Amino acid sequence: MNILVLGAGQLARMMALDGWVLELSLRAYDVGPKQVVDPLTKQIYPQSLNDAIAWADVITSEFEHIPYDVLETCEQSGKMYPDARAIKAGADRRLEKELLEQAQVANAPHLIVNDKIGFEQALTQLDLPLVLKSALAGYDGKGQWRLATLAEAEKLWPTLQAFLHDNPQQALIAEQMIPFDYEVSLVGARSHDGDIVSYPLALNHHHQGVLNLSIVDGSLPGALQQQAQQMFHAIAKQLNYVGVLAIEFFVVGERLLVNEIAPRVHNSGHWSQQGAFISQFDNHLRAVAGLPLGDTSLREPTAMVNILGEDTLDPAVYALPGCRVHWYGKDKRAGRKMGHINLSAPSREQLTEHITELARKLPAEQFPALHLYLQQD
Ligand code: ATP
Ligand code: MG
Ligand code: MG
Repeated sequence: MNILVLGAGQLARMMALDGWVLELSLRAYDVGPKQVVDPLTKQIYPQSLNDAIAWADVITSEFEHIPYDVLETCEQSGKMYPDARAIKAGADRRLEKELLEQAQVANAPHLIVNDKIGFEQALTQLDLPLVLKSALAGYDGKGQWRLATLAEAEKLWPTLQAFLHDNPQQALIAEQMIPFDYEVSLVGARSHDGDIVSYPLALNHHHQGVLNLSIVDGSLPGALQQQAQQMFHAIAKQLNYVGVLAIEFFVVGERLLVNEIAPRVHNSGHWSQQGAFISQFDNHLRAVAGLPLGDTSLREPTAMVNILGEDTLDPAVYALPGCRVHWYGKDKRAGRKMGHINLSAPSREQLTEHITELARKLPAEQFPALHLYLQQD
C-alpha cells in the first residue's frame, strides 16, 4: 500500500521506519520546497503533488500547518485521513476552541482577540495572568505573549496591534493562565470503523514552551486516564477522526483541561517506540491503512528526552541500560529538535535511577527540564 505523508520532518521519517516493517511504502510531500521526497533518505522523486496523490492509496499528515490549497487538493482525492477539517482544527486555534466547545470538553477560559476592543474585553472578562497565542502557525511556544498586570497589557498592546495589522488572516486567542499542577498528554488512535485505542498518559515537562521530557511509568491516577480517554472519544468522534490524535492537558487537582490537540503523531508519544508493544507511528499507519490497531499497553516504565540544538552526545549515553538514541538527520540549529533518547527500566524506581544516570551525562544548559525534574524529587 502506498501512503503519502504531508510534511517531511522527523515524524514522517519515524512513520517510514515503522511502515517498512508493515510493507507500506511511504513518500513525503515537503510543503516548503513543494517536493515529493523519500522520508528517510530525502531523495527527491521527480513527481508533482498531483502525481503523488495519484500514486497514493492513502494520504496522511505529519504536521498541521499545511497550506489550505494543498489540503483542498488532497481532500478532493477522498484519500485523506485524518481529513482537512481535523488538520485545520489543529492548525487554527479559533477552530480548535470551537471544536472543544462542540465536543463539550473542558478547556482554559479564553476569548478571541481581533482588535483593541477585543483585547480590552479579554482584560476585563478573564482573570490575569493571561497568555495570548497567535491563532495560526504556533508551535513550540512560538507566537505567544504573556502578561500578568494591566500595566504590562498597556505596554504589550502596540506589539499585538502590529502583529494583527501585519497578519490580516491572524487573530489572537487570549487565554487565562492555568495554575496547573502538571501537564499530561494522551496519544490515541481511531480506526475507520471507529475503534479507539489509547496509550497510558505521558507526564510532560516543558521548558520555555518546548517539550523536554516525557515520562510514562503507569503511576498517574486511573481516574485521570479515564477522564482523558473520555475527552479523546468526544473529540475524535466529533471529527470522525482516523489516525493518531494527541491531546495535551493541564492537570488541576483531579481535573483535566484540554490545552490543545495535535492531529498527528506527537513528540510526547515517542516513548512508545520502546515503552509500548506497538508504537504510535505503527498505530497511525495501521489506522489510516485500515489495519487492526495494535497493543498500546505499557511494556516498561519509559522516559523520552528531547535532544535540542545538539548533534552529538557523550558516547556513554548509548551504553546506558534500557537506552536508545534516535537522530533525525537534521542540520544543527539552536533549540532545534535534533533527536530524542528513549530510556526504559523494569520499575519506576529504576527508571528514576536511569534518568539520574542519564542526566549526569547531559549538560544542564541543553537539558534544563531534565535537571529541574531531578531536583524536584
Ligand atoms: P506545541 O504545539 O509545540 O506543543 P504550542 O506553541 O502550541 O506548542 P502550547 O501548547 O499552547 O504551545 O503552549 C506551550 C506551553 O506553554 C504549554 O505546554 C504550557 O506549559 C504553557 N501554557 C500554554 N498555555 C497555557 C495556559 N493557558 N496556562 C498555563 N500554561 C500554559
Ligand atoms: Mg501546539
Ligand atoms: Mg502544546
